[in-house]
Amino acid sequence: MSDNQDAVLAANAEYAARFGGKGGLPMPPARGFAILTCMDARLDPAQYAGLAEGDAHVIRNAGGRASDDAIRSLVISHKLLGTQEWFVIHHTDCGMETFDDATMAGLLEKSLDTAALEGGAWKDVGNGPGAVDGHYINWLTIADREGSIVEDVRRVREHPLVPGYIPIHGYLYDCSNGRLTEVPAATEAGRPR
Ligand SMILES: [Zn+2]
Repeated sequence: MSDNQDAVLAANAEYAARFGGKGGLPMPPARGFAILTCMDARLDPAQYAGLAEGDAHVIRNAGGRASDDAIRSLVISHKLLGTQEWFVIHHTDCGMETFDDATMAGLLEKSLDTAALEGGAWKDVGNGPGAVDGHYINWLTIADREGSIVEDVRRVREHPLVPGYIPIHGYLYDCSNGRLTEVPAATEAGRPR
């Protein structure tokens, strides 16, 4: 068993010991909303948005991007579990701003090992072989921080499986101080129709 496994299981034993009455929570989110946000380890949506177990759906991926799979989750969130309001939350200092598709595919072509960020540029320092398959993936990187929020809100808004009455809000989370700031152009793009 790895150190991480030991630590996770020890923390879980403590959590389960004080689990209390939460075993009776209903499946649909009590507060009726969903958040799409980045997987960044510095973001804790339960804390930055004040969520308890059972409150809301939180969908996370690299960048908090409106990928097909993120939209799949949002559609389920509303259609089957009743959420009526959605937030798209990207953040400052996102790793997705540090590379583009060609860079990622090039790194993976050299090796599958962890690359190094040297002077703002990614460099592959691993042992090959790599694989060419990275060229076939849209990595959904971020070139324009606020623009990416607008783009994602718009993509969700315009999706044929998303009803026009759901408000979709766009926010930026600041990793340096924990603050959420609304991106008005994104919220405007996500206004109910
Ligand atoms: Zn991020």
